[in-house]
Amino acid sequence: MKFYSTKNAAEAFSLRDAVLKGLPDDKGLFLPEQVPVLPGSFFLSLQSKTLSEVAVEVSTAFLKGDVPEEDILRIATDAINFEAPLVKIGGKTAMLELFHGPTLAFKDFGARFMARLIAWLVKDSKQKTTILVATSGDTGSAVANGFYGVEGIDVVILYPSGMVSPLQEKQLTTLGKNITALEIKGTFDDCQRMVKEAFVDPELKSRRSLTSANSINISRLIPQSFYYFHAYAQTEPGTPVVFSVPSGNFGNLTAGILAKKMGLPVRKFVASTNANAIVPAYLQSGNFNPAPSVQTISNAMDVGNPSNFERLLQLHDRSVERMRKEISGYSFSDEQTREKMKAEYRSSGYILDPHGAVGLLGMEQYAVENGEDFFGIVLETAHPAKFKEVVEETLQIALPLPPALAEAASRKKNSVPLSKDFQKLKEFLLR
Ligand SMILES: *Cc1c(COP(=O)(O)O)cnc(C)c1O
Repeated sequence: MKFYSTKNAAEAFSLRDAVLKGLPDDKGLFLPEQVPVLPGSFFLSLQSKTLSEVAVEVSTAFLKGDVPEEDILRIATDAINFEAPLVKIGGKTAMLELFHGPTLAFKDFGARFMARLIAWLVKDSKQKTTILVATSGDTGSAVANGFYGVEGIDVVILYPSGMVSPLQEKQLTTLGKNITALEIKGTFDDCQRMVKEAFVDPELKSRRSLTSANSINISRLIPQSFYYFHAYAQTEPGTPVVFSVPSGNFGNLTAGILAKKMGLPVRKFVASTNANAIVPAYLQSGNFNPAPSVQTISNAMDVGNPSNFERLLQLHDRSVERMRKEISGYSFSDEQTREKMKAEYRSSGYILDPHGAVGLLGMEQYAVENGEDFFGIVLETAHPAKFKEVVEETLQIALPLPPALAEAASRKKNSVPLSKDFQKLKEFLLR
């Protein structure tokens, strides 16, 4: 399969280039030249397939010809070794729980798959590969967990000291093995700048094999399409399906659009956002106006310039009318989010995390405007315990930590303190 940059359709990139580069030099984003359409036989037997079987078949459609089939099988089944149950919360609505992976958020799908694919791509290189990643919290732990114990790869995470939650810090700093956490005396922006400088430093480039595992890597979108198929398979045949996707950088929603292009019959996608309403506003007005991000209680979606918008636009022939046919968009305040969490807890007992609550609000708004002749699937992107303070305060309940989080919380933090000076990072990497 060949890939192209959204800024230049003329040049073709191999899977290896697209995945190891992460970003094209022209600042576009990689997309497949042709999204593979899955055969009718795949859909006929979809209902009897496990998530892991879906993962293997969809991965094979993207990777065959570049990766031997037995390696695709291993990459996909090792990466997706947890479930994504569809939990009904009403007659016609269900939550698709994407938080049963090791870091309890849907980012495990993308990060674990990307890690195994990168490990396969660099397996014959004589040098160890170092993955450099800057994080403001969740991405770092998903990426670190994804690469944990993967042979031939070292992971160096930069995070801003004192600016991630205590639990997030434990998740980042207690893994050990091939994972090192650098605690930077600076902000997330400083961490990101240092990583960017590392990638253009000639000496580092010649002496170390550095790769980025950034959030817009195309290899993260492929596995994020798996659960759309799997969820659809669990609905009543014949009833149209609508997906509501709580969105920030819009990777998850882009993966849904890819699933539809692969042949999944989805009636509509709902882009549900918090106060960072850039895409819903675009769908209204046709104008894309990025803005500084606003802080909310669904903070993993506090994005003022959604990086995957460029892909969404390209996948709809850069036309707002075409995008409107596929996607409806709504945004909600923190107050509405808290009210939804409370109302749902009262009516069904289901504990929503703030992101899932935004998703459910979007689904309900869509039904108000379009009628209710469909089955609604809301992506529940994180375990509520990841947002323990907000959930406990809103619902007035005590939320126990799931075992994986409790275990991380009990371990001893192990970080390398570093100033925000790039030279210090360079010395560290050359040591
Ligand atoms: C990252 C994240 C999102 C947003 O996903 P995008 O693909 O960036 O739109 C939503 N919820 C949670 C819990 C997240 O971690």
